[in-house]
Amino acid sequence: MNYDVIIVGAGPGGIFSAYELVKAEKNLKIAVFELGNSLERRHCPIDGKKVKSCIKCPTCAIMSGFGGAGAFSDGKYNITNQFGGTLYQYVGKQEALDLMKYVDEINVAYGGEGTKLYSTANTKIKKQCLENGLHLLDAQVRHLGTDINYVVLENLYNELKKSVDFYFNDPVSAVEKTDKGYTINAKSGTYTCTNCIISVGRSGSKWMEKICDEMNIPTKSNRVDIGVRVELPASVFSHLTDELYESKIMYRTEKFEDLVRTFCMNPNGVVVNENTNGIVTVNGHSYEDKSKHTENTNFALLVSKHFSEPFKDSNGYGESIARLSNMLGGGVIVQRFGDLVRGRRSTQSRIDENFMTPTLSATPGDLSLVIPKRILDGIIEMIYALDKIAPGTANDDTLLYGVEVKFYNMEVEIGEKLHTVFPGFYVIGDCSGVTHSLSHASASGVQVARNIIETL
Ligand SMILES: Cc1cc2nc3c(=O)[nH]c(=O)nc-3n(C[C@H](O)[C@H](O)[C@H](O)COP(=O)(O)OP(=O)(O)OC[C@H]3O[C@@H](n4cnc5c(N)ncnc54)[C@H](O)[C@@H]3O)c2cc1C
Repeated sequence: MNYDVIIVGAGPGGIFSAYELVKAEKNLKIAVFELGNSLERRHCPIDGKKVKSCIKCPTCAIMSGFGGAGAFSDGKYNITNQFGGTLYQYVGKQEALDLMKYVDEINVAYGGEGTKLYSTANTKIKKQCLENGLHLLDAQVRHLGTDINYVVLENLYNELKKSVDFYFNDPVSAVEKTDKGYTINAKSGTYTCTNCIISVGRSGSKWMEKICDEMNIPTKSNRVDIGVRVELPASVFSHLTDELYESKIMYRTEKFEDLVRTFCMNPNGVVVNENTNGIVTVNGHSYEDKSKHTENTNFALLVSKHFSEPFKDSNGYGESIARLSNMLGGGVIVQRFGDLVRGRRSTQSRIDENFMTPTLSATPGDLSLVIPKRILDGIIEMIYALDKIAPGTANDDTLLYGVEVKFYNMEVEIGEKLHTVFPGFYVIGDCSGVTHSLSHASASGVQVARNIIETL
């Protein structure tokens, strides 16, 4: 065997697996294969001047490379079982929280010291939400910020590269089960291992599906979240973001009784493009460094769509809606809330005259031509509900960027050790469908490493 453990994907799941395996000091031979670049070579060409929007690079520097999809993220590590994944269903509620706290300790030790841990415990905002039909979910959140998140990743890489072989720009195309373990076909060659951890994230969802098909690993379809990113003056939300940083608020619409929720809140942040498999959607982040703060706060409003038989392709549904916005706007569309409720498109002159300046250069347009009515009605209802706890949310000048789509991987059938039906073959992180966040994906990495060490 070339390696004791091969890890496919160098996102948080892969990194924390490698970290925990190295920490066990068992002299294991470990390799990580990553289709993207090493951290310092990850550059998105969008500079706002020469390149204003996504040019669809063959490998997206935002989604791929050391650090995975989270490398340039806001670095919000939520410690909670209420959102971000269902790891607790496999390892138990307390164990899942302990794993996330352990990940937090490592992040702090590797450069995150001095960053703030926010908490919803004892906040009066919870009551204020309830009084207005809104529900604040419980969580602690460590906000590393895009800048410190990068430093933590840099430090982790410098530590890991001493004991782990990293193969960058080296996508794995196939995995085969052999008598003694697994054969991995990568761009650079064929390698063998006893244990194989797959952690290819959301960007590797199609590849994961293919592998499950080839190896007959059962899967089931999942959900897709569709919505918009809201951008407003930071002062409108400052009483929430100063205390909680990120507030996950849920609302049940009166019209359809659908659930709408806030997601990924970025105080004083920026709205950014995201490219998933060539489709441009919207996201956001913010920096810990105050000199990089903007005057705006952004967050997503999302509605989950679960499909029942016979339709299975929830991601395909989300992709089609995102494609429609790309077709009409050449990328992301931006619309003033005032224009949306008046049933007219936003134009460049209306955006220029807006009291608030957008942080992303997007195409002014009409989101009602893209987002299904039921979803859009829910979002509008929630904006009015949020206006009661954060007056100003429903101002005409509030900007909505669309579409924001959260794709989920289909759920891979795995057991409580995060193992598949094949011994020594594990699927973790977002590609398992079990996690959808930095903290849960990282925690699943720690857990799988401990499980492997137990079997040695
Ligand atoms: C812009 C943005 C902001 C975000 N902000 C936050 C946040 O603040 N908080 C939060 O909790 N979550 C956030 N997320 C989500 C978070 O980044 C993911 O949940 C997390 O990164 C999942 O970790 P992972 O290791 O499972 O997968 P990923 O991070 O996606 O890593 C998977 C890696 O596998 C590689 N790969 C794929 N296929 C192959 C292959 N065939 N061979 C080799 N390598 C392959 C990919 O290139 C990638 O680097 C954000 C996501 C984005 C895109």
